[in-house]
Amino acid sequence: MRYISTRGTAPDLAFDEVLLTGLARDGGLYVPAEWPQLSADDLHSMADKSYNEVAFQVIKPFIGGTIDDADLMGIIDRAYATFEGGEVAPLVDIGGGVMLMEQFHGPTLAFKDVAMQLLGGLFDHVLKARGTSITIVGATSGDTGSAALEACRDKDALRVFMLHPKGRVSEVQRRQMTTVIADNVFNLAVEGTFDDCQDLVKAMFNDQPFRDRHNLSAVNSINWARVMAQIVYYVYAAVQLGAPDKAISFTVPTGNFGNVFAGYAAKQMGVPIKKFVVASNSNDILARFFASGEMKMETVLPTISPSMDIQISSNFERLLFDMLGRDGAAVAETLTRFRETGAFSVSEDAYAKAQELFVGARYDDTQTKQTIKDLHDEIGMLIDPHTAVGVAAARSTPETDGTPMVVLATAHPAKFPDAVEDASGVRPDLPARVGDLLDREEKAIDISGELAAIEKYIDDQSPLKSGAA
Ligand SMILES: *Cc1c(COP(=O)(O)O)cnc(C)c1O
Repeated sequence: MRYISTRGTAPDLAFDEVLLTGLARDGGLYVPAEWPQLSADDLHSMADKSYNEVAFQVIKPFIGGTIDDADLMGIIDRAYATFEGGEVAPLVDIGGGVMLMEQFHGPTLAFKDVAMQLLGGLFDHVLKARGTSITIVGATSGDTGSAALEACRDKDALRVFMLHPKGRVSEVQRRQMTTVIADNVFNLAVEGTFDDCQDLVKAMFNDQPFRDRHNLSAVNSINWARVMAQIVYYVYAAVQLGAPDKAISFTVPTGNFGNVFAGYAAKQMGVPIKKFVVASNSNDILARFFASGEMKMETVLPTISPSMDIQISSNFERLLFDMLGRDGAAVAETLTRFRETGAFSVSEDAYAKAQELFVGARYDDTQTKQTIKDLHDEIGMLIDPHTAVGVAAARSTPETDGTPMVVLATAHPAKFPDAVEDASGVRPDLPARVGDLLDREEKAIDISGELAAIEKYIDDQSPLKSGAA
């Protein structure tokens, strides 16, 4: 399996190189040169398999022989042993033909753990095999950071610098990052928004001398391996609910488009997925795109679902690549225009194709809170604000032909206790496994949003133990 860049000019790479590289050298994102196929027999055979066994079968073709089968199975088993009760993606019926897929049983209480725990193991394995080390830089709107730090802490061959927008993540989210105290972990609290942080990370990758000096790598959702890990639960849910004989639809609370793109990948691999509802909060650039065919940037509004407070969904580039017939030059041209003018449109054809599969939906904070309250009143269940945006969207876009609608429940309600309490009157308890979070020591560095300041800070830290390539 080879990987190609969405902008068409970076070299093709194998899986282990894509894992370590993150962003392609032409500024694009790596995607598989072709989609591996799951036949009807493959899907039938998965119905009785465990999550980890399905993960192995889905992931193996993407690895393309760069990791031995036994090692891969070991990496998967260790990654998901960190999930409470070994449950990675259990389905829970909430009535009205809607199910939740609970993705928050990992160490940091959000779906990002599903990919990140696997990524930590993959990095460790590949770096050891190569005898090298890397510096990971990432931007987080909250959940990525903690998941990455938990997955990478105390691994000798990695340093992690995590940028978060100061004052714009919840207290629980912040503490889940700043209480990871390890020599290889650096939390940077940046003046600015999440998009500013993401731009800074991109700028570091585009600064070639800096990038080479530190052997930079990414764990953001631009890293292909994260998307790959997320494909698994779409396949797993589909076979639980009768694929390949029955179709399924998903509603995905969306920010960077990483999670929903993984669902799109499952569909390309042969899983019978009828529809994706792309659920946004007031930062509704994607909902507007799917309603009009025009991508138009607005300013970021803070909401009670902060992990979706994003205007530029970086993973959308992967879908755009397919929408534009895998023409890298056209992607580069379109995104340059977007940078310059804050808007772009796609052709009628491309838009029509996107509309066959994707529906956008937008719910503001008032509607989100109402949904949290409604579900609590109806069945006594508390959901987090991101999940609530998804539930609101799923309920307003019902399947009329009996196709099950699965909403990705992306965070545990206790990760956003203030918003959940405000909406429902009930304060969700932190699960016992993260019990003393609010009492642990915190460590973070306040820093301006200037690229030079951040690069200098990273330059000034002690170098990697083994020399960077
Ligand atoms: C990251 C995140 C999202 C958005 O996922 P994307 O892959 O960025 O679209 C939604 N909900 C929660 C809780 C998250 O942490």
